[in-house]
Amino acid sequence: MDNNKRYYFHGDIIEQGKYFCARCDLKVDISHYYEFVHNADDVGDEDIKRFWSMQKAGVPKGYFRPKDAENYIE
Ligand SMILES: [Zn+2]
Repeated sequence: MDNNKRYYFHGDIIEQGKYFCARCDLKVDISHYYEFVHNADDVGDEDIKRFWSMQKAGVPKGYFRPKDAENYIE
């Protein structure tokens, strides 16, 4: 049943010390978020605003995200 792929929000922890960057679509170290303009607080960053609104809309069909998923932003 590979229908249910894990869906990562921007900032979700993938594994110990590794996080998902929705902007770059990469598994990154925590320092990645501070090296670039990657903060949801940065209202000038259209990409991140778009990612956050997508995330608020929920997880796409065929994917799942645990309710207790860890995210560095939260
Ligand atoms: Zn990034």
